[in-house]
This record gives sequence, structure tokens and C-alpha cells, in this order.
Amino acid sequence: MKTLKIAIQKSGRLNEKSVELLKNCGLSFENYKSSLISPVSNFPLEILFLRDDDIPEYVQDGIADLGIVGENVICETEVEVAYLQRLGFGKCTLKLAIPNKGDIQALADLNGKAIATSYPVILGKFLKDNNVEAEIRTISGSVEISPGLGLADAICDIVSTGGTLKSNGLKPFGDVLSSEAVLIGRKGEEEDPLIQELIQRIQSVLRAKETKYVVLNAERKNVDEIKTLLPGIKSPTVVPLAEEGWVAIHTVIPEKDFWSRINQLKAAGAQGIVVMPIEKIIL
Ligand code: ATP
Ligand code: ZN
Repeated sequence: MKTLKIAIQKSGRLNEKSVELLKNCGLSFENYKSSLISPVSNFPLEILFLRDDDIPEYVQDGIADLGIVGENVICETEVEVAYLQRLGFGKCTLKLAIPNKGDIQALADLNGKAIATSYPVILGKFLKDNNVEAEIRTISGSVEISPGLGLADAICDIVSTGGTLKSNGLKPFGDVLSSEAVLIGRKGEEEDPLIQELIQRIQSVLRAKETKYVVLNAERKNVDEIKTLLPGIKSPTVVPLAEEGWVAIHTVIPEKDFWSRINQLKAAGAQGIVVMPIEKIIL
């Protein structure tokens, strides 16, 4: 039987969440820090632990069938791969930043200036799209210190809190790319049954994360109004309580409007509301 290979980051910002996602998909494997490859005991899959920069090319070239990597890395390496699923973690933004004190006011002021970055490809496209002609200085690390050293007039780097910018006398000056971790595959292999099975498992985990399981008690006369607030997957389950005239309602609600829903439910007569996390939702 065929065995798939999935490449994930060996260590760094995406490693832990990638491992967690695969484990939540019911895959059993040892997360040895020292090994490059780890077999999954209950699915025909092997996990390759790599530097994130190598993942898109490994997938494009067929050394791995699948990969989990940030969109920023995919865009920078300019590979031809299939985007299979956005994963909702590793979110970050590639931004331009400029010195607090300086003469740069608008994007056009970057014409003729030097911009330091570890993302020359993405920045090059962005500047071209915005008709800016600037010199791109490619630096592999600590990009934010380059204006202070007189190496560049601006930078383009991943910014999360902005703390690093501030301590280097810089301020954000516009977004270049928003990124999150994505599952990628080889072009043309998307319909492979094993790949589809894995995508479905991943989707069931992601769906569950966005949803809560809710149980509440209500008087039977309030059930109709409460039901309008609870779509559920099909419709809520209503079961009688031992006490005459009362029912328990079981359903799922989206995490994002959780608190407003709970308050509406209380106003409609819901009591004893219990909320639980969900492991998987299979449709
Ligand atoms: P590797 O050793 O695998 O090459 P790295 O040092 O290049 O690792 P990390 O810093 O671990 O990479 O970041 C991995 C990915 O995490 C980034 O490419 C990006 O997609 C995402 N990410 C999320 N938040 C941030 C952040 N605040 N700074 C940098 N990357 C972030
Ligand atoms: Zn890297």
C-alpha cells in the first residue's frame, strides 16, 4: 500500500501546532526531536521534519506529498503547489516599516530608497504592483536593525507585536502580505483518496475548534424561541427532564458569536447552561 509523506517544520513557530493538528486527527507517531522522519503507526503516512524554507520545494518536487508551511514561505519560494487547506494558526503579517523620524510619508517616497528584507521576491512584486522603484537589500536576519546602521531607509519584515520595531525606532508603514499556515500538496494529486481522507480529518478538527457543544435546561413553553437561536448541525436535540414541563436542549454553536448567543439564550429562558469543547465534527 502507498505511504504518503507530509513535511512539517522541525522546530520553530509552526512545529508545535502542526504536531498538535496531526495528533488531533488521530494520527499516532513519535515526535522525536532528533529524527528527520517519523512513521505514523495507524495511517499510511510518514512525517518529515524539515526547515520550513525547504518544505514548498520538497512538495513541488514530490519528495513529500504534503506540507504544512506559512504562506509567506510559499510566496517567497515561488513554487507551483496546490493549496489544500488554510489551517488557522501561524498568522502573521509582512509589513513595511520606516524610521519614526524621516521624510517618508507616502509609498511613492520609497522611490530611489533602499529597503532591507528577508523576502525579496514578495517585496519585489509588491513594489512593482505599486509602481515603486526601490533598491531591495536582502538580509537573512535582524532586518529591523538595518535602518539604524544606515544600511537601508526602510524594511519589510514579519511584524507581530510591533515591539521589535519600536525598540529600533521604526513604525509600521503598510501591509505587504497576510499569512497563515496552510496545507499544501502536489499539483494534480489533490484527488488522491488518502490525501482526501487526511483533508477531511483536518477539516473535522478545524470545524470542532470553531464550535462548542451546549446543553441547557428550559421550560417547554420557551423551547420554540430558544430553538430559533440554536441552529445546531441539523436542529437541536430536545429531551424531557424528570421534572414535568422542563426539557434539556443539546446543540452546537459557533465559537465566534458565543457570548452574544449565550446572553440571548438566557434572555429567552435558558438555565443551567453547560458548554463543552468538541473533539471532532464529521459531516
Ligand atoms: P526554520 O528553522 O524552520 O527555517 P524560521 O526561523 O525560518 O524556521 P520561524 O521563526 O519558526 O521560522 O517561523 C515559521 C513561520 O511562522 C514563519 O514563516 C511564519 O509563517 C510564521 N509566523 C507566525 N508568527 C510569526 C512571527 N511573529 N514572526 C515570524 N514568523 C511568524
Ligand atoms: Zn525558515
